Amino acid sequence: MRASRHPCLVLLLAVLLPSLAAAQSVMQITTVPLRPGIWVLSGFANGNILVHDDGTDVLIVDAQSERRVGLADSALRALTARPVHTVVTTHYHDDHIGGNPHWRAQGARLIAQCNVAVQARKDTTITEWREWHRAPAPADALPAECLEDSLTLERAGDQAVLRHVASAHTDGDLVIWLPRANVLHMGDVLELGAPPFIDWWTGGSWEGMLAAVDAGLAIANAETIIVPGHGPPTDRAGMVAYRDMLQTVGQRVRDAVQRGESMAAIVAARPAAGYEESFGSPSRTDQFVQLLVVGFSRQSAVR
Ligand SMILES: [Zn+2]
Repeated sequence: MRASRHPCLVLLLAVLLPSLAAAQSVMQITTVPLRPGIWVLSGFANGNILVHDDGTDVLIVDAQSERRVGLADSALRALTARPVHTVVTTHYHDDHIGGNPHWRAQGARLIAQCNVAVQARKDTTITEWREWHRAPAPADALPAECLEDSLTLERAGDQAVLRHVASAHTDGDLVIWLPRANVLHMGDVLELGAPPFIDWWTGGSWEGMLAAVDAGLAIANAETIIVPGHGPPTDRAGMVAYRDMLQTVGQRVRDAVQRGESMAAIVAARPAAGYEESFGSPSRTDQFVQLLVVGFSRQSAVR
């Protein structure tokens, strides 16, 4: 990414000026221009929306939460009056598909990997992870079209290449590649400014996360703008650094689990040392380590 691009500036200012970061969270949606006709809309706690206006219509990647989709729509309408023709969903989590009914009502076609609808219909409570309740999504949030492995959508002057990366953040993740624009959306396989999440309960895995990041790195070159599921856009070097973190912290925790150490002992040993600043807060760091312990413990119980 060239030094003059906005994302670096936004990130730098957000780090240097806490008051600006606070102002952004009050405003809730920020718009970051990436290329001509391409932007990212970010609501800080919710998933990023990638907007591609090809001069004919608009494709967006992810839909925000039900609560904030109206704000996202207002931000989008400040950029373009063209209709949202296609919504590509990176995975089933609520902060990515909750806004789908809003866009569907405007006539958009909804596309996702085929496991998304399967997971989004479930009503389950994950007792081993903070009693996490996964409420079923409404029927009109579910994608009307699905793909198993890959699909290429023709765009005016470009393509949107949708690729399934298996068993990563969930069992239904897509990464989206705009080759001409050289923009890559990684979904929640890549999260910046907070620790990543692995949804072990829907087929996510640490190994799959690493493989999915590798698939993205195989696509990206030094000029690629890489959009994470959450957090500011980055470049290939940023994703390489993220991969190093994921590999190192995951390996430390997995080794400790395999040695039979307790959750408390593993957290106390600070296996995320060296990366904690990038996670935003000590409590988030601890949660990430706990999530890895829970997941690796599940894996060793199965084996
Ligand atoms: Zn997610």
